[in-house]
Amino acid sequence: MAILVTGGAGYIGSHTVAELLEKNEEVIVVDNLEKGHRDAIMSDKLNGCPKLFVGDLRDKDFLKEVFSKNDIEAVIHFAAYIEVGESVANPLKYYNNNVIATLNLLTAMKEAGVNKIVFSSTAATYGEPENIPILETDKTFPTNPYGETKLAVEKALKWADNAYGIKHVILRYFNASGAHVSGCIGEDHSPETHLIPLVIQAALGKRESIKIFGNDYNTPDGTCVRDYIHVSDLANAHYLALQSLRTREESNIYNLGNGKGFSVREVIDVVRKVTGRPIKAEDAPRRPGDPAILVASSEKIKKELNWEPKMADLETIVSTAWEWHKNHPDGYNDK
Ligand code: UDP
Repeated sequence: MAILVTGGAGYIGSHTVAELLEKNEEVIVVDNLEKGHRDAIMSDKLNGCPKLFVGDLRDKDFLKEVFSKNDIEAVIHFAAYIEVGESVANPLKYYNNNVIATLNLLTAMKEAGVNKIVFSSTAATYGEPENIPILETDKTFPTNPYGETKLAVEKALKWADNAYGIKHVILRYFNASGAHVSGCIGEDHSPETHLIPLVIQAALGKRESIKIFGNDYNTPDGTCVRDYIHVSDLANAHYLALQSLRTREESNIYNLGNGKGFSVREVIDVVRKVTGRPIKAEDAPRRPGDPAILVASSEKIKKELNWEPKMADLETIVSTAWEWHKNHPDGYNDK
């Protein structure tokens, strides 16, 4: 039976597809390729090639066809819009794609009798944290529509479990970063808004400088502190989540981070060190909706699913990202 990965041609999705292929799973990808890249799942350096269905989760007939044509055991659901700023400007676009599309997916699963789902959620469900490190039991109070849409799905999953027995594992990611060690897949967002790829673009001379959004936060150097986690460590957590659904048939929620915070200035310094290139940084106003500090406690997933990050060190994470961007300065170059 196959694992259906929605958004499998995206950044975290493609790294998870690579991990599943490595584990000899049969993989089917559904992606509308609006943001995803065909080449992210077609490299001959991967352990095989998934079956790709190009289409949109908002198209119910398309979904029905995918579920009727394939023998699907479980779903790993990534497909969503992910930009916080855009979600504030255009919340309905986010509700439409992130919530309505997921309800269609759950309906298709229910009709096809598929009862396992791993869901891609986010630290943005917490909003401004009450405690650091953040625990899964802490209050969820998103400060932007992106986080709200993810939390809305988390709640729908709870009730879908209650009524239909569809079991879920929700993974709340902190800052996904880095690239696959093979060098064949990496981060390529358009537009790019994430710190590490933007700083690397500055190192490559593709942008003149990096803007530091806010220098007056209540943090040691005044800039925001985040918990950076390697994308392949995240991918491995999806495999473990899938295994737990197979063996324990129990729904759960887990944070995923490294439990260590780095300020924006510290990240820029690490990129300078790894690349050996000068990088101009300039102070800029705060970015609306940014909490000062987001650091995860991932003790629960370590304890319950035996998850252990293999690339927890920020220099290692940045080195893998640097390898990818140096060799793919224009990303997949397919748009
Ligand atoms: N950031 C920055 N300059 C940039 C992009 C991001 O100072 O050009 C900061 C941002 O304000 C946040 C941190 O870097 O504090 C990480 O931002 P990113 O967008 O990578 O991830 P997020 O924390 O929003 O998930």
